[in-house]
Amino acid sequence: MKGWMSVQFDPTLWTDIIFLIGEITIVAVVGIFFFALFLVGLSIYSINTGRVYFPRFLKAGMMLVEGLAKSLFRFFGLEDSEVQTFFISLQNTMNKKSFSDIPITERAVFFPQCLRSSHCPAHLSPEGLKCKSCGDCPIGFWRKVLEQMGYRVFIVPGSSFIKRMVRKYHPRALLGVGCLSEVKEGLEMADKIGVVAMGVVTLKDGCVETLVAWDQVMEVATLGVPPDNIPPEVKELAG
Ligand code: SF4
Repeated sequence: MKGWMSVQFDPTLWTDIIFLIGEITIVAVVGIFFFALFLVGLSIYSINTGRVYFPRFLKAGMMLVEGLAKSLFRFFGLEDSEVQTFFISLQNTMNKKSFSDIPITERAVFFPQCLRSSHCPAHLSPEGLKCKSCGDCPIGFWRKVLEQMGYRVFIVPGSSFIKRMVRKYHPRALLGVGCLSEVKEGLEMADKIGVVAMGVVTLKDGCVETLVAWDQVMEVATLGVPPDNIPPEVKELAG
């Protein structure tokens, strides 16, 4: 009886606890803010120098403070497209070595159908467009080169085709071409399903007759290929 009667509410203890929680919260918020600021600063430095510094640290950090980092990028005047481009090069930098190590016969290339000519005679099949190499756009030429190298090549109207082809053929590596948002989404999707992916962004957006830098596509496609095995068409392209 005497024991519980002696336990008394101590208001100063509660005040101390609330102050402590407040202090910890402020330190955490300030810490997160400066952490995001550091990541954004490192990203902007990487963008300006054209070289990605500490890619794994940057990617892991950005996943933690994504929303705040986006606001900071906007505060520093960066367009969303610049930030997306940077994240694609970040992902490509991280995946380059693994991509190079995967045999070409276990890689697949996905082109968007917007790259073809507006007069394209190819028909849509369950595996995408069946290119007839009619010569009206460069896909026909480079598809053959890539297939001779050992790649599976698909010309697809959307990401649902990519998922279906990945489920069917189980490639270990993907090379995806598309507009900024398509490539970003494709890289994220590949990351989630554990497939190594590299992306090349088209030079022009749109629904028909878009453009891509074929030297960039083939530069990625020949990663890990011994110089003697690089097709002469690719060597010519590189000059
Ligand atoms: S080369 Fe292939 S993709 Fe290009 S327009 Fe001809 S059939 Fe279509």
